[in-house]
Amino acid sequence: MSNIAISLLDLEEDASSNLSADDYQKKEGKWCAGCGDFGALNAVKRLLAKEQLKPEKMAFISGIGCSSRFPHYVNSYGFHGIHGRALPIATGLKLARPELDVFVVMGDGDCTSIGAGHWVHATRYNANMTVLLLDNNIYGLTKNQTSPTTPQGYKSNTSPRGSVLPPLNPLQVTLGVSNASFVAQTADWVPAHLYATLQAAYEHNGFSFVRILQRCPKFTPDVFEKQVKDPDYTEILTHENGVNAPGLERLFKAQRVHDPKDIDGARALAQRDDKLRLGMFFRDESFPVYNEVRAVPPVSAEEKVSRLNKEFDRYAV
Ligand code: SF4
Ligand code: MG
Repeated sequence: MSNIAISLLDLEEDASSNLSADDYQKKEGKWCAGCGDFGALNAVKRLLAKEQLKPEKMAFISGIGCSSRFPHYVNSYGFHGIHGRALPIATGLKLARPELDVFVVMGDGDCTSIGAGHWVHATRYNANMTVLLLDNNIYGLTKNQTSPTTPQGYKSNTSPRGSVLPPLNPLQVTLGVSNASFVAQTADWVPAHLYATLQAAYEHNGFSFVRILQRCPKFTPDVFEKQVKDPDYTEILTHENGVNAPGLERLFKAQRVHDPKDIDGARALAQRDDKLRLGMFFRDESFPVYNEVRAVPPVSAEEKVSRLNKEFDRYAV
């Protein structure tokens, strides 16, 4: 049986004004208790309500994984596709229907393993879409296999003696792709920062890549435990053009001013592992956006008829 599922709207036609966050919830999320995916879904619903996005004017595209169940829970059009293929589907949709708001939700296995090639090229294409990587450092849906972001030494069903390789860093990879225009990191347990990051990502014209560190109490309960319990292990990146979530300075004493236009600084910060860093690493709206540079001007019906007639004339006897 195919994994592909297309989700359709569940709203009354005249109910598309003054929508609350709850109006964007199609059904209850079926994730484990305490799963960080709930926090991400709540933040997304808040964003949709703040922007009053029309459900019929947006689409959520996903691959396979726990977080890829998103399109079933958001009241919009959706496409729950196949493993690793969310990005080419979303890019095709954006090219065909540029007026739609396109959101992509992927897990770490989905994006950084089987979908890695698509990830690199979609980043370079820089089509205008909001891309969420929910990174819990494990394959959760298939019950505990090592993913590319699993910490070295971490035990799983596929690495019972511990993962032997250092993990892949999704920020470093994305920042290394030419034409990457927006790279940010946030965490499901800092809701104000998560929401502000999604807001900035949505407002950006281009491929907005947001890595959301996501708790998985089922299989990786301790990977973010230190940072969840003690804010001193986290540093917030601040800048007037970055992610601005007021009030965080009261909880997070470590703050660093980082200009999101500074690509070298972004790469240097992304590779450091002394602290967890949340914020905008890089943002530049001057890069080519694929759905704009590839846009085909609309052709009128008269022009189409005229072209057709010219074609017929070529074969007229
Ligand atoms: Fe969430 Fe982990 Fe449960 Fe999947 S296995 S629903 S990621 S807690
Ligand atoms: Mg995962």
